[in-house]
Amino acid sequence: MRPPRLAPLFATVRSLKGVGPKVEGVLNNLVAPRHEGAHARVIDLLWHLPAGVIDRPITPRIADARIGELATVEVIVTEHRPGGGRRRGARGPYRVLVEDAAGAALELVYFNADPTYLKRLLPEGSKRLISGKLESYDGWLQMPHPDHVAAVDSVGGVGALPLHEPIYPLTAGLTNTTLRKAIGEALDRLPALPEWIDASFLAQNAWSSFAEALAHLHAPASEADLLPSAPARARLAYDELLANQLALALIRARLKRRAGRRLAATGKLRKAILAALPFTLTAAQKRALAEIDADLKSPHRMLRLLQGDVGSGKTVVALLAMATAVEAGAQAALMAPTELLARQHLQTMGEFGASAGLRIALLTGRERGGERSEIVEGLKEGRVDILIGTHALFQEHIVFKDLGLVVIDEQHRFGVHQRLALQAKGSGLGAELLVMTATPIPRTLLLTSYGDMDVSRLDEKPPGRKPIATRTVPLERFDEVIGGIERALKSGAQAYWVCPLVAESEVLDIAAAEARYAELAKRFGDRVGLVHGRLAGKDKDRVMAAFAVGALSILVSIMIIEHAERFGLAQLHQLRGRVGRGAKESSCILLYRQPLSEAARERLNVMRRTEDGFVIAEEDLKLRGGGEMLGTRQSGLPLFRIASLPEHQGLLEAARDQARLTLSRDPELKGQDAETLKLLLYLFERDDAVKLMRAG
Ligand code: ADP
Ligand code: MG
Repeated sequence: MRPPRLAPLFATVRSLKGVGPKVEGVLNNLVAPRHEGAHARVIDLLWHLPAGVIDRPITPRIADARIGELATVEVIVTEHRPGGGRRRGARGPYRVLVEDAAGAALELVYFNADPTYLKRLLPEGSKRLISGKLESYDGWLQMPHPDHVAAVDSVGGVGALPLHEPIYPLTAGLTNTTLRKAIGEALDRLPALPEWIDASFLAQNAWSSFAEALAHLHAPASEADLLPSAPARARLAYDELLANQLALALIRARLKRRAGRRLAATGKLRKAILAALPFTLTAAQKRALAEIDADLKSPHRMLRLLQGDVGSGKTVVALLAMATAVEAGAQAALMAPTELLARQHLQTMGEFGASAGLRIALLTGRERGGERSEIVEGLKEGRVDILIGTHALFQEHIVFKDLGLVVIDEQHRFGVHQRLALQAKGSGLGAELLVMTATPIPRTLLLTSYGDMDVSRLDEKPPGRKPIATRTVPLERFDEVIGGIERALKSGAQAYWVCPLVAESEVLDIAAAEARYAELAKRFGDRVGLVHGRLAGKDKDRVMAAFAVGALSILVSIMIIEHAERFGLAQLHQLRGRVGRGAKESSCILLYRQPLSEAARERLNVMRRTEDGFVIAEEDLKLRGGGEMLGTRQSGLPLFRIASLPEHQGLLEAARDQARLTLSRDPELKGQDAETLKLLLYLFERDDAVKLMRAG
């Protein structure tokens, strides 16, 4: 349970003064967490950082202010002219005439004004500080709807008027002033919190407290205060990264607490498999296997990530690792993200594993009745060596005789932390763990999603792969492309169609992709398939599978979120990797809408230049920064709200060290720091990790 003192922060924004249903609706779109139906909460406002600052230096005289720019001047209110123009009989806005000390006049202009309100705000004869954009109309100086009107106290102070005003990312239906006020209210809700950062580390960085840092970030004095390197931002980034690293460390500690086992074998089974393979292992595969073997042999638990592009040969490595476990007398399990992939694994592994006499079974939601009980019995009695399945493997009460190795195929769907937590509860607790992922995560980001896992990389493709001919073509040459495709299809080739759309909303993008699909379908009939982000994973898999087996000739797909600049290289790369497995040459056409920004052009060039997923991921990170990496949302890489990578890489490492140190001193977080760190975890919504603390 979240500590009660944090409750005000997790209340919806409606609990704030000045936030009614309309503003709430807008804020739900702007700052709410990204999952379906989520409400904007007070804390979401606190994480919504300014994107800029407006300076409001006070101009002593109106004459010194510049037309078209912001002016802040001290004036005396001379006259109200409700609803009348300067000319008699004219109907117009409400005007308030003011003048400065030198007698220069200025009109404040209000459309649809409430006269009572204006009379209270600007009583005739009163002194006021006004701020807003200065305009000239008909030779008159005007300020339509001043941003600020503040009382000037007797010594000429600035009252409530901010000299520097944070400018927030906005959305339709929300003004900066409304948002600023709501955030001010939100800041007032911040409870007193104990310090979780070491006093010496705090001093060394000259950081202020959490609350002060947050207040400072929302009251920047200059643009420099908003940079990732600004102390307030850095402190909060560290907090966020510390919560992330602490959560991962807790999960890891929980897994590592159970001692590993020694799974040593002479290599008899492995030899039999290798002899049956129609190829020899790549150097990268051999290296990864050696690393895995060392882990299996050691008394420590293996927690290893096997990273490699689609087609780099991870499955074979996993099979050979499982063979070792089986030869050592244990069982192994492989968990795939979808039923389809589980079946694919069964097919490959069954084929190669048979030569070594491995008894492999499949268990998904689909196996039922007698077949199912047969498998379940076999597992319990040790008649099944390797079980392949979906997460049903761990959710149900499946009992292994002696499970020694668990392989999790993450494919492209991340979320290993959740899986690890799930597994920590389940029957795989005592087993060695190998996680396979096809997402090329830059090294800098690995730490944020996998914590301290050991990593093996398959950075080399099996020989004989034909490169994928990748071309970039502007939309204007659509017809040419169609013609080219027509010819290619005739020769039995497939084409892969990726539309970098630039619409404001995903709905529009999908509509555009559907239109493109319809257009192609008119031409090529039912040999065209469509895949996009709104399709259910199952449907996506189905279309992809149809494309993979050649039932479809053209695949239309979009994976653009919001802007072309956010083109998801990593994702694009993965999808491209699904073609080009055949003996024939394949092609990928990247169709784009002009004009391309410099960054978008560069990213497309990267795609053309290389097929190496790691290179692409590193380039993507360089071009865009970790927080922006497209596909992060779908892939489950943590999205940070304050921290920004690679800028905060140093802080990430410091946070990892801190988390490690904390847990080495107090492995179950039971000491006096525990309550404080618990607050931190709740603040950054790592409730899952808190549960692990308590589980002890
Ligand atoms: P991944 O799981 O990384 O996507 P797979 O293990 O499914 O890749 O391998 C893709 C294809 O390459 C499979 O058909 C596999 O049999 C083949 N393969 C794997 N390793 C090699 C190798 N060393 N040489 C040639 N082909 C290989
Ligand atoms: Mg695979």
